[in-house]
Amino acid sequence: MNTLQPQHPHDCDRCIFLGQYYDGARYDLYFCDRKSENRNLHILVARFGSKPGYDFQYQAESPRAPLLSQPLQAAQEMAGRRGLL
Ligand SMILES: [Zn+2]
Repeated sequence: MNTLQPQHPHDCDRCIFLGQYYDGARYDLYFCDRKSENRNLHILVARFGSKPGYDFQYQAESPRAPLLSQPLQAAQEMAGRRGLL
């Protein structure tokens, strides 16, 4: 499995591709940099398809806020390891 390239194209030039999460579906995980709009806001995206709406998104002002889904928890961990949060 190639974990270096997103499988589901994502039309956002501000998203940083973090990696993938697999639980039967394959998720592309992104961190969306919105710091220039609101320096406290971060957005995590777990995309499981290319069409609009085929993703889970999470935005919060605190990186410690609880997350709902495993793919987004994986995205949070990856973003944290890369120093993005
Ligand atoms: Zn984005």
